[in-house]
Amino acid sequence: MAGPLALLVVEDDPTIGEPLAEALGREGFAATWVATGADALAADPVDLVLLDLGLPDLDGREVCRQLRAASPTPIIVLTARDDEIERVLLLETGADDYVLKPFSFRELVARIRAVHRRAVPPAPTGPATTEDDHGLVVDRRARRIRLDGEELELTPKEFDLLTLLASEPGRALEREAIIAAVWDEHWWGPTKTLDVHIAALRRKLGDPTWITTLRGVGYRLDPPEGSAVVLVGGP
Ligand code: CA
Repeated sequence: MAGPLALLVVEDDPTIGEPLAEALGREGFAATWVATGADALAADPVDLVLLDLGLPDLDGREVCRQLRAASPTPIIVLTARDDEIERVLLLETGADDYVLKPFSFRELVARIRAVHRRAVPPAPTGPATTEDDHGLVVDRRARRIRLDGEELELTPKEFDLLTLLASEPGRALEREAIIAAVWDEHWWGPTKTLDVHIAALRRKLGDPTWITTLRGVGYRLDPPEGSAVVLVGGP
């Protein structure tokens, strides 16, 4: 099996960053601590990033955006800003989850494990594909989705969202139902994050007609002519 989960702790306050990395180490993670946004962006690839937003050199949201642009590595943001707008902005920057400061160490570890479980596994090469591999293949067990034989690089939320839509192609799904299923029942308000994730999926699918917007209702997956949707791997 793989070694310990590699974490990058980005936190400028040494009275938090250093003991946090040590505590995570005792918990069985391989945690590296850096204190600036620049060091975070220059760090070696890890399995998951814990990112404090209040950094001395760069805006934490910008660091988040750049990390997300560079790789699908899950990001958990550590923030003391708890207003709703800020949370929506965070998720738009590509963060997978956030933990409000001050947080309990137990809660943080639980979040790390949950976010990692949902994450797309690092994929070296997928199983062999065939020429007539047309359409969307959703492998729920491996958490991988291929389109016409090419693996899509999805964030955990994008994977969950596309898997939900693909579970019943052609069926309209209501916004509230999607949010409850993909985020959770404790969702806190504005639903714009859903639209942001849909836009990202349309981009990655390469053809915006895959997902139809039903104004005031929700969304529907409409596979283009000749494209099949196949779910494998069980729920
Ligand atoms: Ca800080």
